[in-house]
Amino acid sequence: MISLKGVDKWYGPGFQVLRGCSLDVARGEVVVVCGPSGSGKSTLIKCVNGLEPVQGGSIAIEAAEVTDPKTDMTKLRARVGMVFQHFELFPHMSVLDNLCIGPQKVMGRPRAEAEAKAMALLERVGLAAHAAKFPIQLSGGQQQRVAIARALAMDPVAMLFDEPTSALDPEMINEVLDVMVELAREGMTMIVVTHEMGFARRVADRVVFMDGGEVIEDSPKDDFFGAPKSPRAVEFLSKIL
Ligand code: ADP
Ligand code: MG
Repeated sequence: MISLKGVDKWYGPGFQVLRGCSLDVARGEVVVVCGPSGSGKSTLIKCVNGLEPVQGGSIAIEAAEVTDPKTDMTKLRARVGMVFQHFELFPHMSVLDNLCIGPQKVMGRPRAEAEAKAMALLERVGLAAHAAKFPIQLSGGQQQRVAIARALAMDPVAMLFDEPTSALDPEMINEVLDVMVELAREGMTMIVVTHEMGFARRVADRVVFMDGGEVIEDSPKDDFFGAPKSPRAVEFLSKIL
């Protein structure tokens, strides 16, 4: 469903941030990406939905080439949900409007239909009672659950998460992870950049370890945790576990 082949990316002429990165994610698969700060994880997933251009290799989502200039990126991006570390909700809009704006503006859904779907999603993430509030009135964990619901409102074919819990107070991490676990169990295709190895153990099919802009290891999770192949992954795991 998502396929990266030999992706190279530079930030300016002197700095190659991604080096020949390849990654295949099948429909319904959950892939956790981990690695040291600065290893290129955020850049990699921004490239997947075309937020950053690449200079070498290719990226495809379903049949559409992200790296083909003829691809309608607005449409493609709308089909891949993205959840960031900092929730990036629209601050001047209610929770309900945050969920309705995309379906109305990008997908042309009537307001009533967008609202019905939004309320069902808010119900699912446990926030239906907060629909009329503004983001600032919610806790970090609640805002991140709204961000997930907002991404789901666009009927995504896959979801990308970039350290969705790393800006949260510890007591709020699980309420967000629980929503993600449920999503994974329902069969959503997911790429999740996270250092929450408990999450990885629960739902990941594979763990990808990046360092220095390269995919160093791509293993089934039990192999990764049981016997990581590369010394760098061993060292990384010893620091975070
Ligand atoms: P990670 O998410 O693994 O911490 P990033 O993808 O954010 O890594 O960053 C990888 C490297 O690219 C880092 O050295 C970072 O400083 C650099 N970088 C990230 N974004 C930019 C940018 N827009 N312009 C230039 N350098 C960047
Ligand atoms: Mg990052």
